[in-house]
This record gives sequence, structure tokens and C-alpha cells, in this order.
Amino acid sequence: MKAEKPVRCGCGGEPELCHARDFSGIIRTSVRCPICEIQTIYHQDDEEAIERWNRAMSPTAKVIHPEIVGQRIDECSRCFQEVQKGFPYCPSCGARLVW
Ligand SMILES: [Zn+2]
Ligand SMILES: [Zn+2]
Repeated sequence: MKAEKPVRCGCGGEPELCHARDFSGIIRTSVRCPICEIQTIYHQDDEEAIERWNRAMSPTAKVIHPEIVGQRIDECSRCFQEVQKGFPYCPSCGARLVW
């Protein structure tokens, strides 16, 4: 799996990874912005925490409903890929979807 970096925070801060042990001694990861101090919950590994952070920072997109050969589909307004009904994020561009 490719090691992703957390994207820059909305405030312009460079986020950092925090590690802490949970009650069972397992090290968990959170992503935190040192400037505005927003922070994700602790996830089971770096990748999951970074993904969660990046999704929270991702732009929003509207779901649009063009008609293709007589069929009304759900499409992301940002990347124009079809999205699954009710899905909160676009699987193609990662934008948060507004239904
Ligand atoms: Zn910030
Ligand atoms: Zn998209």
C-alpha cells in the first residue's frame, strides 16, 4: 500500500501524526493540526488515520443527476463519475458528496 501523507489543513497548517497507546497497549494513530489543533480520533494505523483526515479535508461536491440514454444516474459534480446511491464520498475524486 502506498504511504500517503495527510493533506494540508484548511487553516494552512501542516498536519502531524500522533501516536498513543490504547487501554490494551496497542499503538493508535491520530492526525492533528498543530496550528488550529483539530484532531481526528485515534485509528488503528497511520493509513486509516490519514485517510480519515484527508476525507475530512476534501472538498465537497454535489450529486447531479444527468440522464444517460433515458436513465437518470447519480454523478459527482466534481469529477463527473457515477457514484453509488447514498454514498457519502465520491470513490473517484474523494469529494464529500452532498445529496
Ligand atoms: Zn489547522
Ligand atoms: Zn468525484
